[in-house]
Amino acid sequence: MPHTKKGGGVFIRFQANAQMTVRVQFTSTTPLRFASIFNLRSSPFSTSRLLFSGRRNVIGMDKEGFLQPAEAVVADSDLLKKKLDALRFSGPQKLQVIADFDATLTRYWIDGCRGQTSHGLLKQGNPEYDTKRDELYKYYHPLEYSPTISIEEKTKLMEEWWGKSHSLLIEGGLTFDAIKQSVAAATIAFREGVVELFELLEEKGVPVLIFSAGLADIIEEVLRQKLHRSFKNIRIVSNRMVFDDNGCLVSFKGKTIHSLNKNEHALDMAAPLHDQLGDVDGAINDSASVRKRTNVLLLGDHIGDLGMSDGLNYDTRISVGFLNDNIENSLDSYRNAFDIVYLNDASMLGVVKLVRQLFPV
Ligand SMILES: [Mg+2]
Repeated sequence: MPHTKKGGGVFIRFQANAQMTVRVQFTSTTPLRFASIFNLRSSPFSTSRLLFSGRRNVIGMDKEGFLQPAEAVVADSDLLKKKLDALRFSGPQKLQVIADFDATLTRYWIDGCRGQTSHGLLKQGNPEYDTKRDELYKYYHPLEYSPTISIEEKTKLMEEWWGKSHSLLIEGGLTFDAIKQSVAAATIAFREGVVELFELLEEKGVPVLIFSAGLADIIEEVLRQKLHRSFKNIRIVSNRMVFDDNGCLVSFKGKTIHSLNKNEHALDMAAPLHDQLGDVDGAINDSASVRKRTNVLLLGDHIGDLGMSDGLNYDTRISVGFLNDNIENSLDSYRNAFDIVYLNDASMLGVVKLVRQLFPV
């Protein structure tokens, strides 16, 4: 299905002040009070659109344009401003970033096709087993999103799905080489700006925890092949494989992380990694400990991703949601759940600007 953007509507133009022209566009797809699209022209180079649903203007706090060039929605600009001030005041040494992987760091659409996920891209070099896993997907995926199944029941179903899927990978003789080849052949790409974001966070000594219900070994291979460099500040909390000396998968480590328990396992899965991440900025004093990084910048593409920070005793969290698809039906819930929502498979450049704005130079 191709990626479409909403357009059209009535334009009302007025002079906000001597330097700035604000264009207001009313669309018919959302309630009027939330449907203002401001075209900010605070500089000759700023022509992108901001979809903003707060009662007050966010222009003042968006000096660096983190709500641009993407279409962005901010439901409570006052609250966001307070959170930005808190993060800025505490500095980068108090911040950690927690990010989902699929469709958050990676693009939702690639050349008009859906990008593959870290689970979905895997071809285990055994067509019979690829078909078996595909059949599991066809059976369980609709159940995952069924509105009539209770969360308890769904959680059991997801455990069942992940368990069977992992067993098939072992049974079908998955090798590490097959992972490398699958990633090389996959339709998967990082959002524009992800490398810049990682570089900036590394420079600032801010750790990044990538939290995924996918497969850690595949995510690491995607990072290797697509980014062409490693980052000392990045750790992955995901399902991790154990290979034998011949490079054949023999088991999985630890608890299974599936799509509905990222929340439940957030703390116990992340805790050992948090200890390791204390070394990220090379400091040896106590303040280096990630446990003491009490501010969180959370990136996700599902409302459930907000659970990734559960169990962390954070002071301030700014949550950024990527609403990639089904915007009309999901905008309300995303706007209420996330501090900032980027629409239409946006780039990561807004987040890069946000971090630069927080910690300039
Ligand atoms: Mg995701």
